[in-house]
Amino acid sequence: MTTDHGYPAVRLHIAGEWCQGGTGRTAPIVNPATEEVIGEVPLAAPADLDRALEAAAAGFKVWRATPVAERTDILHTAADLLTERAAEVGRIMTLEQGKPLAEATGEARRVAGTLRWHADDARRAYGRIIPAEPGTVLTVRREPIGPVAAFVPWNFPAGGPMRKISAALAAGCSIVIKASEETPATAMELVRCFTDAGLPAGALNLVFGEPAEVSAHLIASPVVRLVAFTGSVPVGKLLAAQAGQVMKPSLMELGGHAPVIVCADADPVRAARKAARAKFVNAGQVCTSPSRFLVHESLVAEFTAEFVKAAEAVVVGDGLEPGTTMGPLANERRLKSLERLTADAVARGAKVLTGGERPDRPGWFFAPTVLTDVPEDAELLHEEPFGPIAPIVPFSDLDEALGAANALPYGLAAYGFTDSAATAEKLSAELEAGILSLNHCGGSVHEAPSGGVKDSGYGREGGPEALDAYLVTKRVSHQLA
Ligand code: NAD
Repeated sequence: MTTDHGYPAVRLHIAGEWCQGGTGRTAPIVNPATEEVIGEVPLAAPADLDRALEAAAAGFKVWRATPVAERTDILHTAADLLTERAAEVGRIMTLEQGKPLAEATGEARRVAGTLRWHADDARRAYGRIIPAEPGTVLTVRREPIGPVAAFVPWNFPAGGPMRKISAALAAGCSIVIKASEETPATAMELVRCFTDAGLPAGALNLVFGEPAEVSAHLIASPVVRLVAFTGSVPVGKLLAAQAGQVMKPSLMELGGHAPVIVCADADPVRAARKAARAKFVNAGQVCTSPSRFLVHESLVAEFTAEFVKAAEAVVVGDGLEPGTTMGPLANERRLKSLERLTADAVARGAKVLTGGERPDRPGWFFAPTVLTDVPEDAELLHEEPFGPIAPIVPFSDLDEALGAANALPYGLAAYGFTDSAATAEKLSAELEAGILSLNHCGGSVHEAPSGGVKDSGYGREGGPEALDAYLVTKRVSHQLA
């Protein structure tokens, strides 16, 4: 069933069935490009969550006992279905999240690749045989940890859920996932690919609700063995503390405030073009988005001029309109935050070179913004902006720039531009980040791990490390006589 906007009717998915929540309560889903309500998301009652937990417990028994080759085939079939449906999934994503259609469709296609990577890795969840006393066989087995409770945000409506769902299922776990109430239909479409591929009922359950109620309920349940979260640092700390209270491990993929260091020997024009391209993807709502531009004073004029040119070339509009290269912010909270961060910086003496305000049109748009003369105490240099805003700050000495880059409690992504191998090595060794890109702003790839240090969280997603959180290591020694 779809609404007038071509947007599907949103349902929970519990124990293999699509259902309305038992509260009868719903929340509106708003198209951020038009501020029109396009649908309603049902909010789960505690009884719905209990059914989802029961289903996950039963689903785990079935799924972990399914031969790995069969599990892998089901996951590959789901990936094929998602690839076939990418255009439609992308359209739905743009309606509910706002990103340009090409980005949305690309995301849907890319996450089919995430699923394939995990599906193949399921076959490589090897254990070990360890040399032992004669007559004793000492082995290490890796087993699925059990039912997972996962919570994901709205910035990558397909990427966020798929990273958790595909790793959990590949490891042989079942999962109850609360996707964002603001972008629920993309998550539904992903679930549909799995059910159509033949995933057993209960292995994957999708819920929406009041986030704090849902997470408290699921984390406290003895059924759940792992808590996996992507989102802000404060919420991550809250959920990690709740998990700690009941001695459950957690995987925390939190925010960042990524520094870009443009060294004296870099090409300022090339660096500005690459950094600006990365800055405005998804309207800056990316946890690894470059967000503090520390540029050597000898290059700052050239870098800034090129960056402003790139910002002014961004075509802001409804993601469904051809030619749009940056959509609106996904929700009104982000717009208010960006207005507040800009006003604070300006009040402290910053200059707005371009943008700095919402364009005169409906929708939660914010113009691509470049600021200079931003003082050290501006909130923008401390709080993750999560939007299309770029403060450019000159430096004279590389150690000073590294000190500034590492000064924040975040440690997710960092970027460096330099033509010197020795400087590149210094940046690699000294930047406190889980993800470092040199001379480009690399995005995440399936084959390599992503994750943070410090307040940006712990655990890794992607790469061979991705299944670690979802598997437990068991030592088995067997005396034969
Ligand atoms: P928020 O902190 O209120 O929420 C972040 C996400 O966590 C949302 O999806 C929300 O539904 C969920 N959430 C909130 N409270 C929860 C709870 N008690 N239990 C489970 N889930 C809960 O912020 P927001 O306004 O949605 O986003 C703003 C900030 O969040 C951004 O500035 C950014 O720092 C961060 N964020 C980070 C990522 C990321 O990819 N790491 C993604 C989205 C948002």
